[in-house]
Amino acid sequence: MTGDSAAAVRSGSFAPVRTDVVVIGLGAFGSAALWRLAERGVDVVGLERFGVGHPFGSSHGITRLFRVACQEHPGLSPIAGRTRDLWHELEDRYGQELVRQSGCLSVGSPGSTPITGTLAAAAGAGLPVVRLGHDELVARYPQYAGLGATDEAVLDPEAGICFPERAVRAHVRAASEHGAVVYTDTRVVRLELTADGVVAHTPTTRVVARQAVVSAGAWLGQLVPGLPLQPRRVPLFWFRARDPRDEGFALERFPAFIRQLPDGRVLWGHGSDSREGFGIKIGMEDQGHNFSDTDPDEVDRGIHPDTDIAQLSAWVADAFPGVDPVPAGAAPCMITTTPDHQFVVGRPGGDPRLVVAGGDSGHGFKHAAGIGELLAGCTLGETPYTDVGFLSPDRFPASGNGPSPS
Ligand SMILES: Cc1cc2nc3c(=O)[nH]c(=O)nc-3n(C[C@H](O)[C@H](O)[C@H](O)COP(=O)(O)OP(=O)(O)OC[C@H]3O[C@@H](n4cnc5c(N)ncnc54)[C@H](O)[C@@H]3O)c2cc1C
Repeated sequence: MTGDSAAAVRSGSFAPVRTDVVVIGLGAFGSAALWRLAERGVDVVGLERFGVGHPFGSSHGITRLFRVACQEHPGLSPIAGRTRDLWHELEDRYGQELVRQSGCLSVGSPGSTPITGTLAAAAGAGLPVVRLGHDELVARYPQYAGLGATDEAVLDPEAGICFPERAVRAHVRAASEHGAVVYTDTRVVRLELTADGVVAHTPTTRVVARQAVVSAGAWLGQLVPGLPLQPRRVPLFWFRARDPRDEGFALERFPAFIRQLPDGRVLWGHGSDSREGFGIKIGMEDQGHNFSDTDPDEVDRGIHPDTDIAQLSAWVADAFPGVDPVPAGAAPCMITTTPDHQFVVGRPGGDPRLVVAGGDSGHGFKHAAGIGELLAGCTLGETPYTDVGFLSPDRFPASGNGPSPS
């Protein structure tokens, strides 16, 4: 771990271990589950095939968008809200910024999902969003071009951005300080369900536990088959203003946004911060056809001008002409989709040995700590702090019950 090393994070070979709960995969969801379990005093071991805060899964790159009024589902607002509160706790403890509530604009026609979904979620959660009519949007945000005649915006002042690698490290640091033991560079190659628990097998050793929390991101389906999960390769891109003297694309003037263009294309992103060293971030929504399915073990880690950049550059040129449409930086990343684009959080088939978290569908980081709290509670049989039926791993007609006992 960089800058905040904890003695309980180990790599290299180790003798077989016995514990109450083993958490497999320490990205967004798993690192948070590890923290929330350790903070409850549970004997917990975390296993991570790479390092803490690594760039090979779904949780790297300096920033993610953060919103509590989530257009994706009204049931997500309490989870993002719990995440914000838990991250504020860690910010106070470690003096590090994990979430910056610098605002987020949802932009589109009055009937578009960014407008209707955000308004519905904000109303449900009692959040103080501000509706900006077309003329006000144009006057306040001249960076936006190609607006439809009726396009408007919803400004959520409590939304903004969050810092994923930093958050993962902070979760693991807090977990370690509460007694969790973490093994990095440790890949679970098989999860065995036994009569009274689980055995997580690595190539050289094993961890025996009463329960497993499996939060392996794009690799979740390898360890828990039967869930309708599809990993997809979705790169991250950063841009610069065409004119280096143009300060209109700094985060304070160009806040986080989700924007549906008049023809249905959706862009998201946020402005730059030179002190933190991040540029203008812009990406396009998957919409089921902009990116491709991938095998997480074979994911293409190159960036290709024709297939990765050309389309996004054209969209950026249409939507924000002050941005140089040639990206200044890029990194491959993955999301894992489910048929309804919501996560899977809970016990598949009610199995008392197994809790899963995954299917992030490209919008999971803002919920990381809140999901960690749900996972810890589920493991211990607590009543969840919010209704999570819409995240049940069993909501899909054909989903299985996880791996067969062997
Ligand atoms: C381009 C892009 C933009 C995004 N933008 C946003 C955004 O603006 N806002 C937002 O909220 N979300 C966003 N997301 C989504 C967010 O990043 C993900 O929802 C989140 O990172 C998923 O976390 P995870 O824990 O499921 O997966 P990961 O963070 O990948 O964690 C899984 C972990 O499991 C480990 N692992 C896997 N297999 C094994 C094994 N066999 N043994 C041991 N360890 C294993 C992996 O190494 C990894 O560390 C974006 C994603 C992408 C790709």
